[in-house]
Amino acid sequence: AAVVALDGVGKTFANGTAALADVQLEVAPGELVSFVGPSGCGKSTVFRLIAGLADPTRGTVSVMGTSPQRARRDGSVAYVFQDPTLLPWASVRDNVALPLRLRGDGRRERAAAADRALELVGLDGHERDLPRQLSGGMRMRVSIARALVSRPRLLLMDEPFGALDEITRQALQGELLRIWRQADDMTVLFVTHNVFEAVYLSTRIAVMAPRPGRIAAALTVAEPYPRE
Ligand code: ADP
Ligand code: ADP
Repeated sequence: AAVVALDGVGKTFANGTAALADVQLEVAPGELVSFVGPSGCGKSTVFRLIAGLADPTRGTVSVMGTSPQRARRDGSVAYVFQDPTLLPWASVRDNVALPLRLRGDGRRERAAAADRALELVGLDGHERDLPRQLSGGMRMRVSIARALVSRPRLLLMDEPFGALDEITRQALQGELLRIWRQADDMTVLFVTHNVFEAVYLSTRIAVMAPRPGRIAAALTVAEPYPRE
């Protein structure tokens, strides 16, 4: 069964802006799909619909066979925003553990899971740091760790590497591939403006046309980094 299914999806905002016209998309478990297209073509809007942060004005969006809101409440879906927002007064560990705290997990459990997630993104040793002590790339890693901590089945990332310098970008791309390969059938969707990132980092590329806001073609690319 599809992890994400969009059927005839349209989104028109209250001010009359038609961001999406007729989006058709199915994503299977374990896919790593990049979304490319010019600025303003509706990439963030598609992600917000899949995350259940907005509702379509036409068509249906389903995530793991249920509504996006319910899938998100289960903790099955995690969203990494373009600008990582971390609690400035809380340690890196507490920031990462936040989703578990909201879920009601115990203190020791939270700390252990947070530290594991931090290790995955190469931030062990920084558990007690405050966000302001970290570089932009490290803050993005914290944000990814916070998304991974609840072991989501679906990870949505809106331009996770856009604001990073080249070295940090390459390091984080490597981490993402490693995490994706290790996770059992985790599905990842991410937005990028970088064609190389799309080609080398995904199993499929969803190309969005600027007008009238639709996924013009979902191109299949060869899997560049096979899972062992
Ligand atoms: P992208 O992520 O591809 O840059 P977006 O999904 O952010 O594109 O935006 C698609 C279109 O919808 C743009 O024209 C944008 O200005 C418009 N838009 C996005 N959010 C809103 C909103 N809340 N209200 C009105 N228009 C919006
Ligand atoms: P990006 O294109 O980098 O994904 P955003 O998703 O934040 O950036 O916004 C995309 C576009 O949507 C921008 O042009 C922004 O001005 C527009 N937009 C966002 N929110 C609103 C809103 N409430 N009303 C009108 N336009 C909006």
